[in-house]
This record gives sequence, C-alpha cells and structure tokens, in this order.
Amino acid sequence: MTVSALSASTENKSDTVSAVSDVSAVDTATTPESAAFESSAASDNQEADSVAGRNTTSMPRTPTLQTTDALTEIRVERQLKRLSDYFTDGSYWNHYDIDTTGMSDLEIATCVTDTPCAHSVNGYTYCNVYNGAMATVFPQYDYDTQCLGYASLISDLLFGTDAPVTEFYDFDSLRIGDHIRLVNNEHSMIVTDIDWDTDTITVTEANADYENCAISWGRTITRDELYSMESDVRFYTRYS
Ligand SMILES: [Zn+2]
Repeated sequence: MTVSALSASTENKSDTVSAVSDVSAVDTATTPESAAFESSAASDNQEADSVAGRNTTSMPRTPTLQTTDALTEIRVERQLKRLSDYFTDGSYWNHYDIDTTGMSDLEIATCVTDTPCAHSVNGYTYCNVYNGAMATVFPQYDYDTQCLGYASLISDLLFGTDAPVTEFYDFDSLRIGDHIRLVNNEHSMIVTDIDWDTDTITVTEANADYENCAISWGRTITRDELYSMESDVRFYTRYS
C-alpha cells in the first residue's frame, strides 16, 4: 500500500465503517477474480511491452502458456494487494458499533472498523467470526475468530472456499498466501511475501496483541525468529 493510500484510508475512517454495510462492494470469494484478472492482465501487458520497448496500444500480446499453479500464484499476489486495500493496516477486524441486524455471516465477517475490540474490557462481543475451509483443520475451536478467523477469511478470499487445505511443516516449501499457525501461541498469519535470500517472510495478521483484533500488514519475520517464537509451527497451503 502506498503512503498516500494509507493516510487517505485513515482520514476516511468513518467512511470505512459505513462502507462495510454495503458489502456488495466487497470483493468476496465469489466475485473478485474476473476484475482482478482484468486489471492485472492490463498491467502485465504494460510491463511486458515496456520491456520489449514497443508502443503497444494496438499491438496484442503474444499469449504464453503457464501452469495452473503458476497462474494461481500470480492471482494470489494480485488479490493480496486488493485485500490490503480493504482490510487496511491499522484498522480493526470487528463490527464495533455496527448494527449487524439483517446482515449475513459473511457480511459481518467482512466488517472493518477504526475501533479496537478491547477484549479485556468488552470481551469478545465485537470480534468478527469466519468459519471457512480452514475450520476443518481446527476442530478444537467451535468457531474461528480473531487471528484464526481473519487468516481463514483471507485464505478463502485468496484461493476460493473449495480449495483444498494441506498441512505441511517445511519452511522451504512456503508460498505466498499460505497460513502459518503458531500452535502454542495460538496465533495465525498469512504469508504475503517471501525473500529467500534472507529467509524472511512478510505477513498479514489480526489480533497479534490478543487484545484488539488490529489488522496488520507488513510485519517481517526471519526463519530463525519464527522458530524461536514458537516450537510447534505448522503451515497450511491452499495450492493444489
Ligand atoms: Zn476482537
């Protein structure tokens, strides 16, 4: 996210709250792909064309064959950008002060506000809940909320609700969009970027302080840091 976009979203927090009731504007798992693909296909063209150094307003791009897997990763990358514009860094994944009467579960789950939950004061009344595909691998929880609910929602928005969920343990197999679960810490994160030169991942997460369900993008964690903060690290991928 650009700095200007961030400050704009901060200034318009009241708009953010009111906008959530208009969930038709939200890119849910059912709708975002075509728009994401169209916009990114255009930027792909521009990128390829600038590399080729040609003026291509009228020149069609030569099609290239790619695997489903590669195309999925490209789409995940684009969708992460879109999601970071909606679930903005520093806002809160909750429905504080929002009248949820008549709203669907998904509509409530996609609420974002500028008011912290304050669990120690308010309990979990305002926390959002999302029971998606990830719920099947966390049967110990009656419902997925806070960090797990957010990671579960982001995962489904990235890959679709019917994508398989596969557990693995090898850090070297991590890919963007994967879910990292710190079992003993009971914390979840979604990988948004990986720098293999430094073994550093970047994540988005909610409720890292266990108190406010704050949404965060951009925290970086090295491989060593990850395993020093948690002895039981598990990964969940949605790639086939
Ligand atoms: Zn909360």
